[in-house]
Amino acid sequence: MEKLKNYINGILTTPYNGNYINNYNPATGEVFTMIPDSDKDDADLAVQSATKAFEKWSNASSEYRSEFLLKIAGFISKNLDKFAEAETTDNGKPLWLSKSVDIPRAIKNFEFFAYAVTQFSSESHMTGNEALNYTLRQPVGIVGAISPWNLPLYLFTWKIAPALAAGNCVVAKPSEITPLTAYMLSELCIEAGLPEGVLNIIHGYGHKAGSSIVTHPGIKAITFTGGTKTGSEIAKAAAPDFKKLSLELGGKNPNIIFADCNYEEMLNTTVQSSFRNQGEICLCGSRIFVEKTVYEKFKKDFVKKVKELKVGDPLNETSDLGAIVSRQHFDKILSYVNLAVSEGGKILCGGKSIKLPGRCSNGWFIEPTVIEGLAFDCRTNAEEIFGPVVTITPFESEEEVMMMANSTEYGLASILWTENLTRAHRISSKIKTGIVWVNCWMIRDLRTPFGGMKNSGVGREGGLEALRFFTEPKNVCIKLQD
Ligand code: NDP
Repeated sequence: MEKLKNYINGILTTPYNGNYINNYNPATGEVFTMIPDSDKDDADLAVQSATKAFEKWSNASSEYRSEFLLKIAGFISKNLDKFAEAETTDNGKPLWLSKSVDIPRAIKNFEFFAYAVTQFSSESHMTGNEALNYTLRQPVGIVGAISPWNLPLYLFTWKIAPALAAGNCVVAKPSEITPLTAYMLSELCIEAGLPEGVLNIIHGYGHKAGSSIVTHPGIKAITFTGGTKTGSEIAKAAAPDFKKLSLELGGKNPNIIFADCNYEEMLNTTVQSSFRNQGEICLCGSRIFVEKTVYEKFKKDFVKKVKELKVGDPLNETSDLGAIVSRQHFDKILSYVNLAVSEGGKILCGGKSIKLPGRCSNGWFIEPTVIEGLAFDCRTNAEEIFGPVVTITPFESEEEVMMMANSTEYGLASILWTENLTRAHRISSKIKTGIVWVNCWMIRDLRTPFGGMKNSGVGREGGLEALRFFTEPKNVCIKLQD
């Protein structure tokens, strides 16, 4: 069985302790690779090698760095099919989705920041005629990047690309549940001739490899995407050393549907925003609020469409949903369905695991599930399930739906369906989420600030926000001659 390796100081290496972790294919339930169970020793080596590389990389021109990013993007492009197959095998998502979204977006991340950094400029301020201030934006140093399993290469590169572009060296850890495309990326970095130590990738558990990165004194900034609880642990661990933090955390996003919306478009998009990627996207709208006058119609039409979704082998082009990423997550999602029932919810469709025939007979599959009849503030409606489970709830007034939408600890994204422009502006300004989609979902412009309010995170990534995060502003004040 193939054993993946860490990528430290420009070469692929075995973990210092010689230990490995099983890596499962969620569609078959079988172990198909093993990954390093890295710990502090590996993190130390990675930080050492990044520190050695920093001076040259940070002093190089942005064009020099940009060329490497473009080269890596080109190499991923050439291997798109191989990367997509690996992502699907590791994560369980449909192959068509890996091919059309995950891997193309990883390529875009490198391309976008390769170009963005060449356009990045800093501010200057005249203090009357007395002095000129200008701001230098210099790389922070060694950055720790930790990413989750739901959009593996997509989110891994969303962190690495801007950090490298801005002149930092990086020690990164992908989720131990989906390490394969990060490993393949390290092979491509070697092929692209990326200078040794500039990027280091170590594999392993969050509480060992991840926490060794977070607590390492040589790491100056941490960019993390994952659960809110983990984010809080990371913030605590990083605080004593005053590390710069960017935390992209969980969500429990409201999808608010007014009767005056473009109904067909709303219905089709709501199926997507509920169940795309098995509902394992932090931006999915898992709490659907529907204006009372169209509630019954919506319920009937939505449930009909959801029942038509096909859960199947991720390799099959006709599968709308693939496998749930891990056995543990599969159990967690089903436990939330049981909780919903115990809280008085009525399951309108789904609610059960699925046993597929053939090669997927031991895989982890769950029916897309729609639940109604729950209090807006019960646990099912307050806690992140992160699976193919949505609730529907009627509302009577804008005021009521705003109260319900803003009632959770989360504030990542919201979706709003209405043709009333004034209302769209009003709600967009009042709703407590970092991202608002009006009459659409998942349209992403990489220049826009991305991140959550409340317990959904701290800081913003994307565009200039990312380049600002990965640089340290230094003000220089020069007295002008009289
Ligand atoms: P986790 O928080 O469990 O893990 C995320 C990463 O952190 C993994 O690589 C994990 O390692 C690592 N980790 C765990 N504990 C520590 C620690 N103590 N120190 C350092 N690293 C640690 O999240 P999931 O992987 O389960 O991802 C799902 C979550 O991510 C959801 O809550 C989802 O909403 C959120 N998310 C947020 C997004 C956003 O942009 N706001 C986007 C996508 C997902 P290990 O390999 O052991 O798991």
